[in-house]
Parts: sequence; C-alpha cells; structure tokens
Amino acid sequence: MRRIAYFLIFLSLIFFAFSTTSAREPDDFVHLREQMVQRQIVARGVKDPKVIKAMLKVPRHLFVPEARRAYSYGDYPLPIGEGQTISQPYIVAYMTEALDLRPDDKVLEIGTGSGYQAAILAELVKEVYTIEIIENLGKSARQTLRALGYKNIYVKIGDGYKGWPKKAPFDAVIVTCAPEQVPQALIDQLNEGGRTIIPVGRTGGVQKLVRAVKKGGRLKTENVMYVRFVPMVKGND
Ligand code: SAH
Repeated sequence: MRRIAYFLIFLSLIFFAFSTTSAREPDDFVHLREQMVQRQIVARGVKDPKVIKAMLKVPRHLFVPEARRAYSYGDYPLPIGEGQTISQPYIVAYMTEALDLRPDDKVLEIGTGSGYQAAILAELVKEVYTIEIIENLGKSARQTLRALGYKNIYVKIGDGYKGWPKKAPFDAVIVTCAPEQVPQALIDQLNEGGRTIIPVGRTGGVQKLVRAVKKGGRLKTENVMYVRFVPMVKGND
C-alpha cells in the first residue's frame, strides 16, 4: 500500500514539474536572446542598460510568423507578411538608444509592423502610440501586444504621414519605414527638446538614418549611419 502511495506522489511530482515548465518560456529562446544581445548588440556598442534589459526581456520570436521562429534571434530582418519586415535586432536597439528616452516619455512610432519595436519602447517609457497603414499587420500586432500584457501601447491603423495630432506633442518620434523627406506633421508634433530618428531616402535604395533634436521649433539633425528600410507609403486620402 505504502509503495503505491509513494508511486502516486512520484507521479504527481513529475506531472507538477512538467506543468510548470510548459508554462514558462522554452529555455532555448532565453538562451538565443542572451546570445543575440551579447553578440549583436553589446558587442557593437549599445550601452544603455535599460535598452539592453528590454532587448533581453521581450520575446522577439512571438512577433514573427510561427514558421520563422527558429530564425527570430538571427542578425537580420525577417519577413512578417504583406511584404513587410521586422527590423534587425541591432537596428531596433540602436534606434531605441538614440532616442535618449526617459520613464515619463510619450513616444510616437510610425510603422508598427509586428509590434516588436513598440514593445521594446513600452519597456522604457510611459506611453507608446504607434501607427500602421496595413490593417492586417496593425490588428495582428495589437493581438500580440495584448497577449503579452502591454497596457501602455496604443495601435492605430492609418497613415503615419499625418502623425497622431490628438495625442501630440510627443517627447520622441521613431519612424521605422523610409520617407523621402522628414514629414512636417511629425516635426510639428514633437515637443521642444524632443528627439527623433528616421531613415530618410529613396525607395529601394539605402537611406540615411537621421537623428534629430527639436530646438527653437526646428530640427538639428545628424546622419548616424546607412540603413535599408521598407518605404513609407502614402495613404489614400
Ligand atoms: N517597427 C516594425 C517594423 C516596421 S516595417 C517592427 O518592429 O516589426 C515598416 C512598417 O511600416 C510596415 O509594416 C509598413 O506597412 C508600415 N508603413 C509603411 N508606410 C506607412 C505609413 N505611411 N504609415 C504607417 N505605417 C506605414
């Protein structure tokens, strides 16, 4: 009788162990993410501890289509459907660091895509407003972000050229698709002292990644590197 009791206790312990591990994230992804941060991000000079912490925390694989999850921590952008891509991890970290964010900031992102960049921002600031022009992508990003429990990200489906006037001004504006010029509405909606980072240039080619600070109503800009983003398309209206 006692043997049976021990056996049942043993079985329930095994069951308990399995049920708790399956509720956690697979260790493989945690390990891949640590490697990504060390080899692609810290090794290339990103230093801000808050950015590094966010990159370690946000489960990037949940923002890419299931069939591509195995590649989600690689050193490259990946397709997310509708001809669009999630940016390379280093570029996400670099652009986030360049915005010099503070905990009370309100940030505007143009080009929600998968929602990954928005999640990284949401780890660092009070509120993130993000605009996506392709309805399917916007809806799917909203779902992913909700499932992960983010309550400080607002996703709008619409044309980013107009910004989000009702929620302006913003302390920082990040654009993750490439316009040919910095859209004036985005400059107007930036706070005095606000920071912005935008890939500017021709469709299909490389673009200049421009970092700017708004001083006296005007942008003081510097070109920080060359990048390749999908184009920022014009809306219908
Ligand atoms: N930040 C995203 C990647 C962006 S890919 C991520 O973390 O996954 C660029 C996105 O910009 C695409 O989803 C594209 O549909 C969107 N986009 C292009 N033009 C736009 C516009 N005018 N307004 C809003 N979004 C736009």
